[in-house]
Amino acid sequence: MESKDTPLQLLTGRTGIVFGVANKRSLAWACTKSLSQSGMRLALTYASERMERTVRELAADLPGALVLPCDVTKSEEVEAVFAKLKAEFGFLDTIVHAIAYAKREELEGDFYHTSKAGYMIAHEVSCYSLTEIARCALPLMENRQGSIVTLSYIGGERVVKNYNVMGIAKAALEASVRYLAHDLGPRGIRVNAISAGPVRTLSASGVSGFSEVLDHIATNAPLRRNITAEEVGDACLFLASNLSRGITGSTIYVDAGYNIMGV
Ligand code: NAP
Repeated sequence: MESKDTPLQLLTGRTGIVFGVANKRSLAWACTKSLSQSGMRLALTYASERMERTVRELAADLPGALVLPCDVTKSEEVEAVFAKLKAEFGFLDTIVHAIAYAKREELEGDFYHTSKAGYMIAHEVSCYSLTEIARCALPLMENRQGSIVTLSYIGGERVVKNYNVMGIAKAALEASVRYLAHDLGPRGIRVNAISAGPVRTLSASGVSGFSEVLDHIATNAPLRRNITAEEVGDACLFLASNLSRGITGSTIYVDAGYNIMGV
């Protein structure tokens, strides 16, 4: 649902980077809109040349935005991003990590068929990248009361049919959030995850049976509907802003309440 509130300029004078915009349906794009409307100057990354044009077109309307290449499987590209941010922004307040990848064939059937290669790539892209990004960002973020936000899913806590290796990666991602929050808290950086309900995006379309999951949530979640990408974006804005200054190491649900349900 669209917020009826006028965006507050909560983030004026602050800078951020969003990893994971593929197109205008991406949760990363919803986060970008909420942060930018609140006054934050942003950098966006694209993972492959295939996506560069789309990301540049989307970024064209964002005041002062940078667009940078970053495939998180290449450490030199991650390092280059932060070198560029140092030169262009000088400091950094917010990171949005909205990246995930698993081989399509690993997102259907039995989990025990997961290949070692499929397991490794899912964890490298979807989980380890958060830790590497946080480490590279540290010199730019230290002691600015900034915030790192990543995106998770309930499949990291409970069994969701076909989510398979991505569920294991999300469990590790949420544990990474807690360890990073512990390490970075004394250095003035908060780290949290948003556990989002299902939203139809490019990545989500790779999970077998995704339409049935949407139907199930619409029928069974306390709010009797699915969430919107904009609701995730606004939760991201809250976690990036000083309004959430007492929250770190948490996984916050934006899922129409589905996580509270038993039978
Ligand atoms: P999306 O639009 O497809 O975004 C996924 C992004 O990950 C894409 O921009 C993709 O870039 C990027 N990515 C994949 N491999 C990468 C790599 N090696 N280096 C850098 N970036 C890479 O899908 P989304 O649903 O918004 O996903 C964003 C996050 O939300 C993910 O962590 C996802 O698990 C999480 N989430 C989604 C849902 C949902 O239902 N949609 C629910 C809960 C959580 P390319 O397309 O260029 O490869």
